[in-house]
Amino acid sequence: MLTGLELPQVGHQRSAASQELLQRKNNYVANGISVSAPIIIDEAKGAVMRDIDGNTYIDLYGGIGVINAGHCPETVVKSIQQQAEKLLHSCFMVTMYQPYIDLAEKLARITPGDHAKKAMFVNSGAEAVENAIKIAKAYTNRPAVIAFDGGFHGRTLLTMTLTSKVKPYKFGCGPFAPEVYKAPAAYCYRCPYKASYPDCGLHCLEHFERFFVAEVAAEDVAAMIIEPIQGEGGFIVPPKEFLQGLKKICEEHGIVFIADEVQSGFTRTGKMFAIEHFDVVPDLMTMAKGIAAGMPLSAVVGKAEIMDAATPGRIGGTFGGNPVSCAAALATIDLMEQENFCGKAEHAGTKLKKALIELQKKYPIIGDVRGLGSMTAIELIKDPQTKEPNKKAAADLIHYCFENGILIMGAGIFGNVIRFLPPVVISDEQLDKAIEVLENGFATLCK
Ligand code: PLP
Repeated sequence: MLTGLELPQVGHQRSAASQELLQRKNNYVANGISVSAPIIIDEAKGAVMRDIDGNTYIDLYGGIGVINAGHCPETVVKSIQQQAEKLLHSCFMVTMYQPYIDLAEKLARITPGDHAKKAMFVNSGAEAVENAIKIAKAYTNRPAVIAFDGGFHGRTLLTMTLTSKVKPYKFGCGPFAPEVYKAPAAYCYRCPYKASYPDCGLHCLEHFERFFVAEVAAEDVAAMIIEPIQGEGGFIVPPKEFLQGLKKICEEHGIVFIADEVQSGFTRTGKMFAIEHFDVVPDLMTMAKGIAAGMPLSAVVGKAEIMDAATPGRIGGTFGGNPVSCAAALATIDLMEQENFCGKAEHAGTKLKKALIELQKKYPIIGDVRGLGSMTAIELIKDPQTKEPNKKAAADLIHYCFENGILIMGAGIFGNVIRFLPPVVISDEQLDKAIEVLENGFATLCK
């Protein structure tokens, strides 16, 4: 059994058993289900994963932002076991169970704002986004939605329409959902107006005056959806005034402001939700990933008045708010609160960021180091003057790290960002080891 404190140990022999499984994967799993690392995981604990060949890896991708609380936290596993022995499913829309109600109340309490709040549960981030938009449309009786350039909201028809990156997410999947309008995001490292913050005066906010004349009438817009920090887009942290300005625009025009916290929520950024860094209280929030330490669950939480606008039966789903997932979420949030996971995320993130800034001084291919808490990223470029994206360097670094027992992953519209989403319980020793491998990786790449 893993203790969670192990360091990476990678041999380069792959067993016949793992080779056979890879072959069976190729034979039976659809090609569109892409895989970044050709290993089969057997067990994971804390920030360590072990494959069936006995190799151990330090996890710096956290199941793509799911494993904030570490792999298999004891109290969560126990809670799952206890709930599984009592009730696996009843369908909350027919007969109720307590964990659903407890979790709705808990989320109403821990989300920003002291107004009355309500929640509903589904299974994936995309489903939460779909439902948040349905609720906003029901509340406003308006057809349109505003999303942001570089955003990612999922793979269903509506959520892929809201999403920016064409390949691989949208290519060949049109026609897309109607009445979705894209606005520029505050991506200061690559400002679409070629301006620099704070001297720019935030053109990206001013843009809305024209937008509501040229693109869509404000009174036709039901919702504006934004990730407080873009996830797949490359961990882009906007200036505080940008999100505050957007919220103000929404208030002026009766538009529902939805913060998509699917990737940034649950202590990832050093606060329970990323939007808290910006002193903005959203009308609705979507959340998933880190909510239940790996059990599938997502939620829409927000103002009771808005949440209640969808009439009975218009939202929901057979598996939404499964009792085992709700029990896992309650235990996960308890653990986060009791063991100061916000502090842990801040500690690990600060340590990693400091090391990355040192690396940036040595290796100019690191164009930008950014993020909040343990949501940290580096953007790789070919040349500091042109900032031409360096996708190959990102791919090479991911490969180098994998070969040396560190699991990281890419992001960004141009595929040139490396994002770090470690379980926040990662030890200093494990993080030091990961940093050492990253440093060696850059030394090898830049030879
Ligand atoms: N919203 C954001 C911000 C995300 O990062 C993601 C997934 O990465 C989604 C929505 C979609 O979540 P899921 O893959 O669970 O459907």
